[in-house]
Amino acid sequence: MQALAHVATLARLATLAAALALLALLGLHPAVDDRGGVRAAGPLPACRYDDITTSPRGYDDWRTTLVDTILRVPSSYAPPDLVRVHDLGVPGGGFVRAVMGEDLQAMRAAAVAAGSPIGIESAYRSYTDQQAVFAKWVRLYGRTQALHISARPGHSEHQLGLAIDFRSDPPVATLNASWGTTAAGKWMRNHAWEYGFVMSYPKGKTSLSCYDYEPWHFRYVGRDLAALVHGSGLTLREYLWANFTTAIVPPPKPKPTVHPTPIPTHPTATIAPLLTPAASAPSLAPPSQPPLASLAPTISPQVPNGSTEAPLASPPPATQASSVSGLAPVLVGSAGIALGTIVLGGLLLVRRRGRSGIGL
Ligand SMILES: [Zn+2]
Repeated sequence: MQALAHVATLARLATLAAALALLALLGLHPAVDDRGGVRAAGPLPACRYDDITTSPRGYDDWRTTLVDTILRVPSSYAPPDLVRVHDLGVPGGGFVRAVMGEDLQAMRAAAVAAGSPIGIESAYRSYTDQQAVFAKWVRLYGRTQALHISARPGHSEHQLGLAIDFRSDPPVATLNASWGTTAAGKWMRNHAWEYGFVMSYPKGKTSLSCYDYEPWHFRYVGRDLAALVHGSGLTLREYLWANFTTAIVPPPKPKPTVHPTPIPTHPTATIAPLLTPAASAPSLAPPSQPPLASLAPTISPQVPNGSTEAPLASPPPATQASSVSGLAPVLVGSAGIALGTIVLGGLLLVRRRGRSGIGL
């Protein structure tokens, strides 16, 4: 009987392998667009917090590297070609990548000529800088609200050296949602893309960009790509994910299941107090976008987590497979196919791209 069972097991495994190969051949090849981008294998992930290392992320991939609340660059990621903003003749301080130098100067000149001069409030931030920035918002507003308005270390476009928080020159309504209604804010919204800059977190797109509206925060992607993003009507996150991102983002980890405790014999006991609410991850759902200054009175003071360190280690996706071992064979088979397909898809992607992250 044991031998028979063994043969049956082998047969099931062979069937599963064949199914996986068929799925990989049929529908899970990433499509290659006319710009050489490889479409991500799957729809845009819903906003959540994770620590998946992004890809592509080489310093030469500056146009197409995506960081968001899920995808990140390593803490060691530091662009090699940072130049001082001051040396570019643009008001403000800090550093930006040299790749944007000429376009930034041209944009500043055009904004001045239009009567809406711009300056720079904040540019490149190292991983350590971003740790301090995020910690400041956590201290001010609590972690839940901080996650809406600030990136965890490793997840910031500022660490790419390609993001700038612009301001008016002289400063008006700096880092405030109302800056979008100033002359400089309006000019940037309408013209920044012509110089290679895209507003990363536009108004009304919080559910897609995963951050509150920030009319001052622009990401440089170069003029060609900025024109494509602008023409698409998509957020930068959507566009990069759909056309260039090759990172594999596993589905979110399931929340722990709550098992009702047997009702004690005491006649007045009720079930309700025995159910422990599932640990609630910070929600990105509320789309309200008040100016930062107006947030303070609404912040609940009992947010307990003042940690300045986001967890950095990515849990290995493979561990999710172990949790299905007790399910019905059909479910196990389905989960196995899905997991195997993801792995195969990842292998195909790696082979097709043939590149590795310089940033590691
Ligand atoms: Zn910013």
